[in-house]
Amino acid sequence: NGVKGQQPHVAVLAFPFGTHAAPLHNLACGLASAAPHVAFSFVNSAKSNATPAAVDSAPPNLKFYDVDDGAPADFAFDPRSPEEEIDNFMRVTPGNFRKGMEDAVRRTGGATISCVISDCFLWFAGDLAAELGAAVPWVGLWTGGSRSLSVHLYTDLLRETVSAGEKGASDVESKVDDELGFLPGMAGMRLCDLPEGVVSGNLNSVFARLLHRMGLELPRASALAINTFEGLDPAVLIDFHAKFKRCLPLGPLNLLCPPPSRPDSTGCLEWLDRQAHGEAVYIGFGTLMTPPSAELAELAEGLEASGAPFLWSLKKKFWPLLPAGFLARTADRGLVATWTPQARVLEHPAVGVFVTHCGWNSVLESLVGGVPMVCRPFLGDQHINSRSISHTWKIGVAFPEKTMTKDEVAKALHVVLRTAEGKKMKERACALRAVALQQVQPGGSSSENLRALVAIISTS
Ligand code: UDP
Repeated sequence: NGVKGQQPHVAVLAFPFGTHAAPLHNLACGLASAAPHVAFSFVNSAKSNATPAAVDSAPPNLKFYDVDDGAPADFAFDPRSPEEEIDNFMRVTPGNFRKGMEDAVRRTGGATISCVISDCFLWFAGDLAAELGAAVPWVGLWTGGSRSLSVHLYTDLLRETVSAGEKGASDVESKVDDELGFLPGMAGMRLCDLPEGVVSGNLNSVFARLLHRMGLELPRASALAINTFEGLDPAVLIDFHAKFKRCLPLGPLNLLCPPPSRPDSTGCLEWLDRQAHGEAVYIGFGTLMTPPSAELAELAEGLEASGAPFLWSLKKKFWPLLPAGFLARTADRGLVATWTPQARVLEHPAVGVFVTHCGWNSVLESLVGGVPMVCRPFLGDQHINSRSISHTWKIGVAFPEKTMTKDEVAKALHVVLRTAEGKKMKERACALRAVALQQVQPGGSSSENLRALVAIISTS
């Protein structure tokens, strides 16, 4: 623990890629507001710390420290190999974080670090905490859903079960439709839903090794914080409560520790104000994914065929891939925008369905909006999330052949927007929304878990 009588000092260690740092930042801001007597040091790459909302909106007891990201001086990000950036970064861990924390201690008047909160991906954070003192707790934040974490906690068992590894590829091939019901809460999930690097693909990539190691180290953590809520996946959480010293579901974090609201710079909300309730399609594939060009065109044609009003978040550089004349032909009922304030879009009563890549933040935002989904997952945890949506929670549909075709897009939108089954999906989504809202209210489990976390960090 920290030195008696000294200000508690929490180091918050971020994984600076994709949308990982954002939920950790929200949590750090929430904790810092709830515990104004505690010093918080957010240790992150300079690039990630420089994202607009990150630093400006923080409470005064939360300070930011940059660490080396391992990129060579002439490094240029290549979207075709995004893992290169991660490899560079992981190569300089944990030394860069150790240095970042030393820097934070110096600039906080020598207040030693009394607690380490990290993104779970930083599996070595438990060792960093132990170096600082035997009683310094390590709290991991899992920014995804509970099923996607379960996959990494049970990787060895999964590999044994499908006898992956040396001669794995062909075995896996013949078992893709096997169900994972032998794992708690995973009934209905299939082998083909697992992220690459668990039982198939390159099991030795930097990322696969990172996640495997994380699954082994994480049960050592003093507490697991996770961006989900009680009532969403009960069987998985029961397993986590048994497996971890403390399991603290804090979701939806966006509601529990709300980030500053993003401006509607592209006029999406005003446009939605002019649409009928529950009629509009919202399309967005997150910050990293864009469907291949042929699929993008099929999606556009399917939207056109559906006749539904739509709002599409699509980076400008992809607009030329849309079918000739599409923008002009649909101008009276469609808006293609380079960016949307998505969480607010999904809470708008005009939105009736969300065509999504099933990134976890998008899934939670859709749940909070009570909006059913049409799923087009691409990689990582997106397949498991998609299966949870279509199979477990039954609040959406997935494309039978995974990819989007004009007819399947029009059909999926019809099912969700116009059929009795779609109505039921909407009702179930609204029921989950009600549970989510209840958990973040005072007395709700996410809210109580935040209090428990405040107690852990304040007294350590
Ligand atoms: N997002 C947004 N506007 C956009 C596109 C994305 O606000 O036009 C936000 C979205 O609300 C979500 C995040 O970016 O919070 C994407 O996270 P997610 O986990 O869904 O996907 P990822 O980008 O990590 O693949």
